[in-house]
Amino acid sequence: MALSDIAPFRIAGNLYFVGTQKASSHLFVTSEGLMLLDTGYEDNYETILDSVALLGFDIKDLKIIIQSHGHYDHTDATAKLVALTGAKTYLAKEDVKYICGFTPDVYYTDGMTVRLGETEVLCLHTPGHTEGTYSFFFYVEENGRRWRCGMFGGAGTPQLLKQFMNKWNVPYVMRKHFLASIERLKQEHVDLFVGNHAGQNHTRENRELLIKNPVVNPFVDESGDTWLNFLNKLPGKLAARLEAESKEEFVTFAHRGASEYAPENTMLAFYTGIFMGANGIETDVRQTKDGVLVLHHDSTPARMCGEEHTKRIDEMTWAEVQALNATKNGLSDKIVSLEDFLLHFAHRDITFAIELKQKNIEREVAEVLRRFDMQKKTVVTSFHLDYLKRFKEAAPEFRTGWLVKKVDETVLTELAAAGCDQLCPPADLVTSEAVREWRAEGFDIRAWGVTRDTMKQVYDAGANGMTVNFPDVLLQYIKETCDENA
Ligand SMILES: [Zn+2]
Repeated sequence: MALSDIAPFRIAGNLYFVGTQKASSHLFVTSEGLMLLDTGYEDNYETILDSVALLGFDIKDLKIIIQSHGHYDHTDATAKLVALTGAKTYLAKEDVKYICGFTPDVYYTDGMTVRLGETEVLCLHTPGHTEGTYSFFFYVEENGRRWRCGMFGGAGTPQLLKQFMNKWNVPYVMRKHFLASIERLKQEHVDLFVGNHAGQNHTRENRELLIKNPVVNPFVDESGDTWLNFLNKLPGKLAARLEAESKEEFVTFAHRGASEYAPENTMLAFYTGIFMGANGIETDVRQTKDGVLVLHHDSTPARMCGEEHTKRIDEMTWAEVQALNATKNGLSDKIVSLEDFLLHFAHRDITFAIELKQKNIEREVAEVLRRFDMQKKTVVTSFHLDYLKRFKEAAPEFRTGWLVKKVDETVLTELAAAGCDQLCPPADLVTSEAVREWRAEGFDIRAWGVTRDTMKQVYDAGANGMTVNFPDVLLQYIKETCDENA
């Protein structure tokens, strides 16, 4: 016997709970058979079998399994149930990447109804928690009363943090979709809030109350407030998590290396940045006439290598570029290729911001970055949105960030349309209010053009990172701030 930590029970009408504290599973009993809403962890399989039997039903009558989203805590028991019963499974197409052991029979479409017997479940696409999260609405009836039930298919916010999103290659804009989904769900009246985790609707506690006094169903709140209160708390939870994350995972990018101290975009500058403790490197990519990707900011080497070098880098050969020396503060070093740079730094557990400085090198850059397995630690940036669009086309698995000089409604719309994950505004625009607003649009915020004066403002505002020529100064400030708050 696989007894659940919440014994199976009837919630109302033909709706039963057959899950566990960790993963809810709900059963509809209809004249045409059984339907499950979410299955749960793999070991929920036995819990479901035993719960259904204890309630007096036959699992062989299972006809349909609808699933709120693809995460394993809602779908891992599905494969075994399908093998046993041949039940038809429903999932969003976008969430297939999360599941294992079965292929959904039906992909949801927004607004569709799943019917079995007299039960009709309205399925609304409410992305955010995952790309293909669906929420469900249906009626239950008992003793002449009819209640509208609702479930938010993905209310959890930890899955909207970087660690999780990077693992599954989820675009950060899902954070915005999460908020939009909440707004959409608030339009739905719900008398009986059904959780897909027991904590959401206090399944265990309400079960006890229901058993003590079956006359008053504790799951029911005809005012709809229980549902709305639950939804209303979620945006604040997400914002708090993202704010905490931005501090914990703050990225100090050595801008072109520690370029205040060493010739920018050289090994010397990059290593100086790393030795100072920077957890990110920002650099610029161009291409020589003979196709070598090199790290250099300006179109000619004149500023870094001597006024006489006015020939454009894209008109020079790699051999010509290699003959040059970039100098600063009496230090000098060679211009490096992207490949050489990656040989030295790709294996490190740091974040990379690679700026495209020339058009039509997107494919080549993507290819080299892929070869070094840089997908999960790189943001490819540019001031030119068309470069980023082409890059995204060539390599959709990479995150992109748009460097902008101002931020307005148009910028935010275009940024989202281009599938960018990061907004890179100039430092002086980065205030707490702005960060909150832009983050609610689903973007990470990384500032550029940072001076010693604006550095503190950007960090205090809660940005996710910034590029600085002087990583040591910023790191010292961060350390002092953390010590103060400790
Ligand atoms: Zn989930």
